[in-house]
Amino acid sequence: MSNARANTPKAEPVSEETYQSPISPGVSWYENSCGDRPRYPAIDDNVSCDVVIIGGGFCGLSAALELAKNGTNVVVLDGARFGDGASGRNGGQMGSGQRAGVLELEADLGFDRAKALWDMAEDAKRSLHETAAEHGYETDYLPGQLTPMHRKRYEAEAREEVEVLNERFGYSDIDYLDRDAMASALGSNHYFGGTRDSGTGHVHPMKIVIGLARAAAKCGAVLYENSAATKVALESGRIVVKTATGSVVADKCLLAVNGYHAAKLHPALDSHVMPIQSFIGATAPLGHNSPVLPGKEAVDDSRFVVRYFRRTADDRLLFGGREAYGKATPGDIERAIRRQITEIYPDLADVELTHAWGGNVAITMPRMPYVRELEPGLWTAGGFSGHGVMMAQYTGRLIAEQWLGNSDTIKLLQDLKVPTFPGGLAFRNPLKVLALTWYAMLDRI
Ligand SMILES: Cc1cc2nc3c(=O)[nH]c(=O)nc-3n(C[C@H](O)[C@H](O)[C@H](O)COP(=O)(O)OP(=O)(O)OC[C@H]3O[C@@H](n4cnc5c(N)ncnc54)[C@H](O)[C@@H]3O)c2cc1C
Repeated sequence: MSNARANTPKAEPVSEETYQSPISPGVSWYENSCGDRPRYPAIDDNVSCDVVIIGGGFCGLSAALELAKNGTNVVVLDGARFGDGASGRNGGQMGSGQRAGVLELEADLGFDRAKALWDMAEDAKRSLHETAAEHGYETDYLPGQLTPMHRKRYEAEAREEVEVLNERFGYSDIDYLDRDAMASALGSNHYFGGTRDSGTGHVHPMKIVIGLARAAAKCGAVLYENSAATKVALESGRIVVKTATGSVVADKCLLAVNGYHAAKLHPALDSHVMPIQSFIGATAPLGHNSPVLPGKEAVDDSRFVVRYFRRTADDRLLFGGREAYGKATPGDIERAIRRQITEIYPDLADVELTHAWGGNVAITMPRMPYVRELEPGLWTAGGFSGHGVMMAQYTGRLIAEQWLGNSDTIKLLQDLKVPTFPGGLAFRNPLKVLALTWYAMLDRI
């Protein structure tokens, strides 16, 4: 057993053109546009450290960075490559607030807690930008987010949300767009009115993953890829993590595996957090003068199976909305995405799709993250429910701050009620498929 020592990524440039993630389907446009994506070694030793983190997405890497920056000896293990989970493959939309809206949170938790959760998310936005600036990596941030209503009957709620945010939550960056204004902003008259949030925007998620990993390594975190944890056990007050080629013994452990909990490291994860697959397609560049999203805002619509799309800095349309609730990758990803694009932008019926890929979104019953100390020293954070671009990163940081004794803000998330999914081990998955299919059907009426 030796103390974990800093390792360095392999510096040689690696062609990403044909790289296929072992855990997520399809080569993403992000892989082809992120520049050098360093490779980190697999663990081949038995090491000891203060903290071991399992999962190198936004959450795990951000916790590692905060800890390493403050002198903690930290090891990160990822079963694939950093960013192969949801963090390097998502829609890149930051949003505002939490996944559950303010009206719902206020009704459930009261004004003070709802406001504290809103403020937390505002701080998460700031933290994303400040961390990138501090460590000198690009995020490709583009401002603006539109949330158009796909049914007229939802317009009233959108207006109410704007009013509540403006007047009681002190957030003035959001306003209501009527149907015509929304059509101009979208370059499509598919939708009714909705909201425009100029206080948030969208980013290149893989560049952030790469930036976080580089920064953490520079601060002394020891990073391992292709090093799946196969077992986590508590032994004599320490936590022992086994992999096929080595082991790590630590005082604390963060399970940051989100929707990729295949190794069944702790039973609480599967009962509180479940994966669904979501798929994205990227078009060829549409040209600088394309009428699609002339302001380059991101869009997430009012459907239960949200359609989320955005125009990238190089004028592609990145479009997500096809979901799957089982384990198999559906065979119709490109066809389904093209159909959805064409419903909104009929002129793009024959547009070339250069990439199509997917990943696991981890959901919870209340669509709020599941953050817990599962056993003494063994923590988990996940289930960001399609809202992890800023919140997963921030949650990782908050857990690190708690461990460092610098802040107990994480308690706000730890205290959220996140019930188990119904159905027990045998019926949980079929019930999930049934419920989600039902809600997806409601989108059509
Ligand atoms: C297609 C898609 C679109 C999305 N769009 C958006 C969006 O627009 N806006 C938004 O806010 N959110 C979005 N999300 C959600 C967001 O990406 C996630 O909430 C966030 O990335 C979660 O980060 P994480 O670090 O918790 O998990 P992940 O990034 O999923 O990382 C988990 C990591 O754990 C590793 N792992 C799993 N098991 C083991 C093991 N046994 N040993 C070692 N490592 C292991 C995996 O390899 C993986 O790298 C989207 C997600 C998907 C899939």
